[in-house]
Amino acid sequence: MKKFLSLLLAGVMTLSLAACGGSADSTEAEAPAEGSGQKYVIATDTAFPPFEFTDASGNFVGIDMDIVKAIAEDQGFEVEIQSLGFDAALLAVQSGQADGVIAGMSITDKRKETFDFSDPYYTADVTMAVAKGSDVKSYEDLKGKTVAVKTGTNGADYAKSIADQYGFTVTEFKDSPTMYQDVIAGNTVACFEDYPVMAYNVQQGAEMEIPEGMTAAGSDYGFAVKKGENAELLAAFQTGLANIKANGKYQEIIDSYTK
Ligand code: GLN
Repeated sequence: MKKFLSLLLAGVMTLSLAACGGSADSTEAEAPAEGSGQKYVIATDTAFPPFEFTDASGNFVGIDMDIVKAIAEDQGFEVEIQSLGFDAALLAVQSGQADGVIAGMSITDKRKETFDFSDPYYTADVTMAVAKGSDVKSYEDLKGKTVAVKTGTNGADYAKSIADQYGFTVTEFKDSPTMYQDVIAGNTVACFEDYPVMAYNVQQGAEMEIPEGMTAAGSDYGFAVKKGENAELLAAFQTGLANIKANGKYQEIIDSYTK
């Protein structure tokens, strides 16, 4: 399956290359810089609602998915979505297996060393969350306990940055649902997650709660490509984002998942 996937990806990459090459000695008109109808592989997280998740009908949906599709339509390119997991999505872009990533990915100075980001399209805090009815209400209550984080995230960095100060240990999970499960099962006493995602899950019935006043480390979400690569995709995303903000489509998408 893995092998098949990478062959498939390789095929897509070859096609993309073929699509933009060969114009020098050709008499055909140049394809426009944007709107070239080319297909980009976009990597994302697996379950990070309301940004990307599988709905009750089995469709892969969410704010990120709708935004990238609306921009693709606006700019005349095609997208192939690869739902890989957060850490894996970033790695896929770094290794050139995907052209871009949209995954509720926070724009950070550290990531700017290896990614080029679009303008922000959403803002989110990180929050601590606990099992429903838990005694843990603040960082002080984490002393001597273990907390859950998702590998490679802002939330993980934040938890690690205060772990010594509050005397807790950190254990890592690959995706949000397994991280929540571990907290609900009581193996870990809390997790760190982006606030809108945690709030959405709680609203959807996750057996968890968000203690008051436990949000921190606000950040902006951006679409990203590998640094120095795929400049035309990034430019198309930027223009498309401005367009869907101006024509109301962006707000329509946000409202459809948050109201
Ligand atoms: N916003 C967080 C980050 O970029 C988490 C993203 C995610 O888990 N999909 O690190």
